Formats: sequence, structure tokens, C-alpha cells
Amino acid sequence: MQRVTILGATGSIGVSTLDVLARHPDQYGVYALSAHSRVDELAVQCRQFRPARAVVGSAEAAARLRQLIADLPTEVAYGEQALCEIASSSDTDTVMAAIVGAAGLAPTLAAARAGKKVLLANKEALVMSGQLFMDAVREHKATLLPIDSEHNAIFQSLPAHYAREPEAAGVAKILLTASGGPFLKRAVGTLEQVTPEEACKHPNWAMGRKISVDSATMMNKGLEVIEAHWLFGAPADRIEVVIHPQSVIHSMVSYVDGSVLAQLGNPDMRTPIAHALAYPERIVSGVAQLDLTTMAALEFHAPDFQRFPCLALAFDALRAGGTAPALLNAANEVAVQAFLDRRIGFRDIDRVVRRVMDEEAHGAASSIEAVLAQDAQARLAAGRIVDGLART
Ligand code: NDP
Ligand code: MG
Repeated sequence: MQRVTILGATGSIGVSTLDVLARHPDQYGVYALSAHSRVDELAVQCRQFRPARAVVGSAEAAARLRQLIADLPTEVAYGEQALCEIASSSDTDTVMAAIVGAAGLAPTLAAARAGKKVLLANKEALVMSGQLFMDAVREHKATLLPIDSEHNAIFQSLPAHYAREPEAAGVAKILLTASGGPFLKRAVGTLEQVTPEEACKHPNWAMGRKISVDSATMMNKGLEVIEAHWLFGAPADRIEVVIHPQSVIHSMVSYVDGSVLAQLGNPDMRTPIAHALAYPERIVSGVAQLDLTTMAALEFHAPDFQRFPCLALAFDALRAGGTAPALLNAANEVAVQAFLDRRIGFRDIDRVVRRVMDEEAHGAASSIEAVLAQDAQARLAAGRIVDGLART
């Protein structure tokens, strides 16, 4: 019996994870669930999965949850320390890291430091502190399995010995596929007027609002380039983004002998979640088998960096190194929230990120404290720029 903690259980990834777990009650038990503000949803999940512990974002949320599940034995707590506890407890084996944004860093790192099997959806944690996070995984013998569909596809397309002997594997390039999001073909001049509703309407995937906006700007792909760099030890010039609007191929690895290996599937996150949960075995995920004969043509083309400046900014941050990716990530989180709150326009997102990258100095990512200080500095700077834009 694997005992699973889900950080971010009420989110899109969290709900998909519980859907897979519910199909295998003999193999998996839920140790702990976390939410931030959606307390009613978490109460329903607690009733169904009977976790030993549940963690929410505030004292008020905890009081409300205690009321809602007073008849259950679930122990309720709140705050970052409690999240770190459920991620590192000796009562859990596997941690699904599915909190959105920088808020996921501390508990995800706590899971790695406790040597857990970490299923990583929270790409922002790795973008912020890639080297430190990967060092913690190695030092504490944690198992890190990618949930992001592209990285899970790459993981599946690499040989098992890749982690031990990357050079011997003969990898020429990592080909990261991207759908291009909802604005792949929209006239560039009209992007200024895009609304949050339009930006959140992804053609192929149903996801949380933040990652949906990131997909529309292609910052999501930019963060994924940085994520791939850390997960697979690949330099920026060995990672290529390929636009593939159908999202059937989830990414590829090209080898020195001319072979290209790909992983295909219907666009449903339950496939990578089931893969990582059961790895190296396979379990049923609830996702329908891919029917190749009814499929439209698969298209591929190069990304347009003018249309999607956030993609170029992310490559710049990766090449700059140190805390530059933390700067990029923090500025993006602030800008995306301001866009969702209708304080700034869609194209202002890349403007805010670019200005923060240009104006704020970055340093060495020598410690988590240094990364968090950079994150805080970037948030203040981005907030000032947003205030200026919101007034005009
Ligand atoms: P959602 O917005 O749907 O869910 C986010 C989860 O995190 C919710 O449970 C939310 O709680 C919780 N949360 C939000 N803010 C905080 C906070 N400050 N502290 C603690 N918990 C918080 O996001 P997704 O499920 O879409 O994405 C989760 C992560 O997975 C992201 O990093 C994303 O990039 C990544 N990912 C997602 C994919 C997808 O298909 N959705 C695909 C690949 C990667 P509450 O709901 O109670 O507020
Ligand atoms: Mg992805």
C-alpha cells in the first residue's frame, strides 16, 4: 500500500490524482490532502478519501474545515509548516506536488529532503531553485518523477540508464512540444484586448487559471524549458520547442543516430499521473486509448518568438543562470494575477516580466534564502510596475 500526500488536492492536478487513486483502492491510500481556500471541496474529498491529515491556508479556513468534518478523525492544520510536515512525515511514501506557484517550493523541497517519491507538477518550484532542488533529491535519495505531460513524455522516451550515464545515451536534443495555446493564430494586433476568459480557454487541456494564462503567453513553455534543463541536465541549446497544435505527441527525444522517440496519448493529465504513481509498473488511469485512425493530421512548426516574447524571456533567464529564473517566475506570477484581476492587459504580462528582468540585478542561487530574497524583490518590483500600468 502506497500512502500518498497530495499538496494542492483541490486543484486541477489534485482532482485528477484523486480520480486515479480512487480506481486502485487496494494499492494506494491517502495520507494527507491540502487546499488553500476551497475548503468545501476539501471537506468533500476528506469524506471520500478519509485522510489522516488535512491542511489549509489560514486559521479561519481550518476552523471552517473542522466544523465541516467534525465527525471524521482527520486532523486539521494550516500554514506552510503544516504543509512541510505532511510532505515529509514518515507516514507517507509518495508526495504529489501540485500547489501552484512559488507557494509550493517549501513543502516540495521538504518532501525531497525527506527522501520521498516526489511526483512533480509544481514546475515553479524547480524553476526557482533548480540546482538546490536537484542537489536535495540526490543527497537525500528522493525519487523525482515528472508529472508535467511534456517532461513525463521525455522521461518515458529516455533509456532507464539515462540518469546514471547521460552521455552514453546519445541524446542529441530534447524536443518539447507546445500546443501554442488559444492565441496561436489570433492577429497579433488584437492581443492587447484579450480577456481573462479568452486566455483561460485552452484548446486541448482543462487546467488551473494561472497555468492557462501561462499557456496563452507561452510562458508555460518557457518555464518548461527551464524545468527540462534541471530534470534532464540538458543545456539551453539542446532543448528545442516545437509547436504541435493537436497535443497528441507530448514531447520527443532525438538521438545522435537519427532516431526520434515520442510518447503519444490523449491530452489528459491522468496518464502522466498514473505513470508516475505506478512507475516502473503501469496502472489503468481512466483515460481512453488513443484512436490513431480517427485522428486529424498532426502538424509541427517552429515557434514565433515575436508573438510569444515570454518564451524568449525564459530562454534568456535560463542562459543568465543564478537567480534569474526565480526573478522571471516571480514577476510572471505577479503579472498573471494582475491580468486575472483585470488590472493590466494581456500584453502587459510580458512587459512587466521584461522590465523586472532588465531592472533587477540577479545573483547566485547559493541558498534557498537567496532564492526567496530574489523572489520577494522581484514581486515588489513587479508590483510597482503593475501599479504604474494599472493607473494609465
Ligand atoms: P490549480 O489552480 O487548479 O490548483 C492549485 C492548487 O494549489 C489548489 O489546490 C489550491 O488550493 C492550491 N494553492 C493555491 N495557492 C496556494 C498557496 N498560496 N498555498 C498553498 N496552496 C495553494 O492549479 P493546477 O492544478 O492547474 O496546477 C498545479 C501545478 O501543476 C502548477 O504548478 C502547474 O504549473 C502544474 N501543472 C498543471 C497542469 C494541469 O494540467 N493543470 C499540467 C502541468 C503542470 P485552493 O484551490 O483551495 O485555493
Ligand atoms: Mg506541460
